[in-house]
Amino acid sequence: MEELKKKQILVVGLARTGLAVANFLRQQGASVTLTDCLSETDLGSAVEAARALGCALALGEHPEEVFTKADLIVVSPGVPLNLPPLQAARSIGVPIIGELELASGHLKSPIVAISGTNGKTTTTALVGDMLERSGRSVFVGGNIGNPVLNVLQDKETPEVMVVEVSSFQLDTMWSFHPQIAVLLNISADHLDRYDSFDSYVASKCRLFANQTENDIAIVPADDPSVTTSCEIRGRLLRFSRTASMAAAHIQGNHLVCRVEQAPDQRYHLGRWQLQGRHNQENLLAAVLAATCTGAVPEAIQQTIQSFKPLPHRLELFHVWRGIRFYNDSKATNVDSVVRSLESFNAPVVLIAGGRDKEGSYAPLAVPIRKRVKLLVLVGEARFRLAKELGQLTHTIVVDTLEAAVPVAVDAAVPGDVVLLSPACSSFDLYENYQARGDHFRSLVTGLTAGGRQGVM
Ligand code: ADP
Repeated sequence: MEELKKKQILVVGLARTGLAVANFLRQQGASVTLTDCLSETDLGSAVEAARALGCALALGEHPEEVFTKADLIVVSPGVPLNLPPLQAARSIGVPIIGELELASGHLKSPIVAISGTNGKTTTTALVGDMLERSGRSVFVGGNIGNPVLNVLQDKETPEVMVVEVSSFQLDTMWSFHPQIAVLLNISADHLDRYDSFDSYVASKCRLFANQTENDIAIVPADDPSVTTSCEIRGRLLRFSRTASMAAAHIQGNHLVCRVEQAPDQRYHLGRWQLQGRHNQENLLAAVLAATCTGAVPEAIQQTIQSFKPLPHRLELFHVWRGIRFYNDSKATNVDSVVRSLESFNAPVVLIAGGRDKEGSYAPLAVPIRKRVKLLVLVGEARFRLAKELGQLTHTIVVDTLEAAVPVAVDAAVPGDVVLLSPACSSFDLYENYQARGDHFRSLVTGLTAGGRQGVM
């Protein structure tokens, strides 16, 4: 703590994480400047909160001198590390860290850290729910939307922390040490922010960097790229839907969990509500992590029976004239859309597009050919998507969701699915994926108001 006192610290990004960082640093007696490329008007109430903390502000631009004069820079997860003023500061030796690194030295509870290209939030929420139902005091945070530093504001130290970790957070941490590290999967994503797929993989592997042989690493049995790419020192627990050798696997309608520190358990999946094989994989990983952290079998079974899909993730939000409408706005990369399409047997009208992330769309070819009766393309990536996928099925290119929704509704017949699953980020037209998903939901419910079946 002493080392932060009187230091000049620059916090980049004035949103939830930036404010939590600034609050923590001010409590430690540091001088804090907050910078954001958005203007004071765009940032709204966050500016007042920053002023109330006694922070200096550099808004609407990133003046290089505030970066180069800082003793330490703390970046928020959304901030690209190749920002020119950050590079200038790095070149003269200013340390640049993220919130997780800042928090690391102060966290006292055992940590379950969950990363992967897809499924992080769902799995984090599942583990948190299993532990809470087991009566354990638990902090659920990280990339899920609750900065880890918030745990230090609580009076009680939680028995366990469940932390969702993105690759951007891993890039700015060196000492974060989870006792249980879960790496769900690795597929192509964020190639607009990494030099290559290999550097993205290397970033994900940092999750295990500080683990020792006393720790646990939970990895997919069916994706050897995780164990071949990452150096893992902890005890390996594998999960697999099909391989009965794996510590957690599926047998008929049961999930089987076998770990050393607990008796073998079988969980009934009859009332599991999340769709798709990918969500079974998330559940397998979650059961392993929760079991190793002391969750009790009754609580795990209760979570399995009662957990609902999270908003914007393959979320069935409306049924109208026998057509099911799904909001999967969080599907911002190709693999998540592949997995979503594989979850349906019915014909799908797929709305996709947004800001291109510069990866390959080729893995979408098979599921589109198999499942998609109409592809409606929107956003900045629409022409590239049309060029690469348009020959696979009937395809219509429009500009926006306002135009896409009536086209999709017109084409769907009873029994069909209308699915927004973009394979792209939302930043071309929206502030974030939530705003895109909310807009889609309101367009659909507005258009179908007065139908025979209402909102779910
Ligand atoms: P994350 O936090 O990693 O983005 P989410 O749980 O928020 O993961 O899900 C994001 C998207 O990825 C959703 O479209 C969801 O349906 C899909 N998804 C969830 N789990 C997986 C998985 N294990 N593999 C592939 N896609 C997944």
